[in-house]
Amino acid sequence: MFQNKRDIRSLSQDALIEFFRESGEQAFRAKQVYQWLWQKSVQSFDQMTNLSKSTRELLKENFEFKLLKVDLLHRSKDGTIKNAVKLHDGTFVESVLIPTEKRITACVSSQVGCSLDCTFCATSALKRMRNLSPDEIYDQVVLINQQGNEYFDRSLTNIVFMGMGEPLLNYQNVLSAIDKITDPNGLGISPKRITLSTVGIPKLIKKMADDAVRFNLAVSLHSAIEEKRAKLMPLAHRSTNLFDLRQSLQYWYAKTGKSITFEYVIWKGINDTEFDAKALAKFCGVIPTKVNIIQYNPIDNGPYIQASQESVFMYKRILENKGIITTIRLSRGQDIDAACGQLANKVGG
Ligand code: SAH
Repeated sequence: MFQNKRDIRSLSQDALIEFFRESGEQAFRAKQVYQWLWQKSVQSFDQMTNLSKSTRELLKENFEFKLLKVDLLHRSKDGTIKNAVKLHDGTFVESVLIPTEKRITACVSSQVGCSLDCTFCATSALKRMRNLSPDEIYDQVVLINQQGNEYFDRSLTNIVFMGMGEPLLNYQNVLSAIDKITDPNGLGISPKRITLSTVGIPKLIKKMADDAVRFNLAVSLHSAIEEKRAKLMPLAHRSTNLFDLRQSLQYWYAKTGKSITFEYVIWKGINDTEFDAKALAKFCGVIPTKVNIIQYNPIDNGPYIQASQESVFMYKRILENKGIITTIRLSRGQDIDAACGQLANKVGG
């Protein structure tokens, strides 16, 4: 009979212990299996070589691995590798490796498609189809780490949640994946090397602060003027005004002591005036912030055009005059990114 087995990685360590107990096996096996799964990142039961054959058979009868597969791999002239990753149910997400002199950064997705409708973003054209599970997020990190070693002879150093989807709308799974990624019994990557990027949902920013998360927070701001931001990010804005957003960021800082990075694209004729830059500088004033000015990756036939260099430098000057650290990120992997646009150009190194 066809049996739809569960992915073994959907079980918590306690659930694994329970499974072994109920099966008449010793409970310490659960810890071994947990380490195989999350520390050594195995993708089959036969790789769990310290388990007896019968134990492995027991696991195979009850569980499976729902693995992702690289469907298309593009390499950019600048070294960036963009993967179209196929999930077990045939849906796709993007995972990108961004190499710099010092870093190998994984840019990972958190949802298939996106439910927000930021008017400049290519993913907004893809409806949100579903949330990724913790193992699907974790597997992207493992994949990029393997590619780092294979193509650059270097392991992964940083992770950014800047791929498809809004990570805060998949809160539990994203945090659970980050647990596995940072756990010493998991991949053991420092949370300081992880950045979650969000449109900024005040309630959930406060929740992260209450949950005492230790990773970095980046907020896609793009305008500090209410009506403009509403046009650029209509759905994000419907539930959030800038006042609430700012309040939640103050709360975040008070609770975590961690500063915030604003991601900001400057478009010609949209937000490229001195007035816009001053509004941003003012908005930044309330808590320690850094601004990443991101170069726009044009979407096919879209109305948005990257602002001139003068506007970018004008912003930098105004922000730096106020003591705000400002970096300008060049687009990475642009030659392979034509149809996509939203990935990969906002990480430093
Ligand atoms: N939903 C989250 C994470 C995914 S988008 C967020 O909004 O932060 C990651 C970043 O890419 C965001 O700052 C987003 O505004 C930016 N982005 C989207 N489309 C882009 C494009 N075509 N060029 C440059 N940056 C883009």
